[in-house]
Amino acid sequence: MQIIKTIHELHPIVKAWRKEGLSVGLVPTMGYLHDGHKSLIERAVKENDRVVVSDFVNPTQFGVNEDLASYPRDIARDAALCEKAGAALIFHPQPEEMYAPDNCTFVDMNRLTKGLCGKTRPTHFSGVCTVVSKLFHIVTPDRAYFGEKDAQQLAVIRRMVRDMNFDIAIVGCPIVREPDGLAMSSRNTYLSEEERGAALVLHRALSLGEEMMRAGERDTGKIRQAMVDMVEREPLAKIDYVEIVDSDTLEKVEWAASSVLAAMAVYIGKTRLIDNFTFEN
Ligand code: AMP
Repeated sequence: MQIIKTIHELHPIVKAWRKEGLSVGLVPTMGYLHDGHKSLIERAVKENDRVVVSDFVNPTQFGVNEDLASYPRDIARDAALCEKAGAALIFHPQPEEMYAPDNCTFVDMNRLTKGLCGKTRPTHFSGVCTVVSKLFHIVTPDRAYFGEKDAQQLAVIRRMVRDMNFDIAIVGCPIVREPDGLAMSSRNTYLSEEERGAALVLHRALSLGEEMMRAGERDTGKIRQAMVDMVEREPLAKIDYVEIVDSDTLEKVEWAASSVLAAMAVYIGKTRLIDNFTFEN
């Protein structure tokens, strides 16, 4: 398995695959890979002849006061995981390779990105749409794999692909969790031991919401309040948002009548964690 750092080196490799008639899957990541990423890569390996994992901490999706500089990085460890999972190559560009100094073109959308994470991260999804569009042009995959862990991102990418006519199938993959329920995330490494325990409150609150829906409750105000109350009982937790929205439009719903997404972002100490579940009626 190769680590390719430039677009110039990547193009002939992909071209050669195409000439052989091979299908290509892409798994976009920011690196510091864990079993959640691995599940996406393994699914891509099953469904494509060749799999490219992009490993790039994309500066344009970080806000000014966010953790771009401290975001964990370990390309050697990532390479070992990708090789084991069966990827053909890692695309690992430096920011200068992806963005010219005078880059002034961005991909953005005026729906789906205002609520949930977009409220406190107003430039985040423009950065995501821009880098994912660039990766789609660079790698030209047949399929691209995204985790349901980032449910809003998945909805945004699906919409972008539809609206911009990318001929790429978007495959959503289930959330992979630690044995105690915490959703795997590269940012979990920021947590102290005490915070790691407190972080379980996200999954506990979401499980409570899911149980209420399973038991027939459809009033999203009641379900949301029960989840909020549970998170607020954890002293180390501070809520960014807890919302129940339509899974497709991401608009708030009062009644959980169709497919709904219950999503939350919670600060545990200084670390912002997200988690969610989708409920199909
Ligand atoms: P990231 O490196 O955090 O940008 O994530 C890269 C991809 O992996 C995104 O599509 C994420 O949704 C996905 N991902 C991250 N954590 C998990 C997880 N615990 N389970 C499933 N997918 C995940």
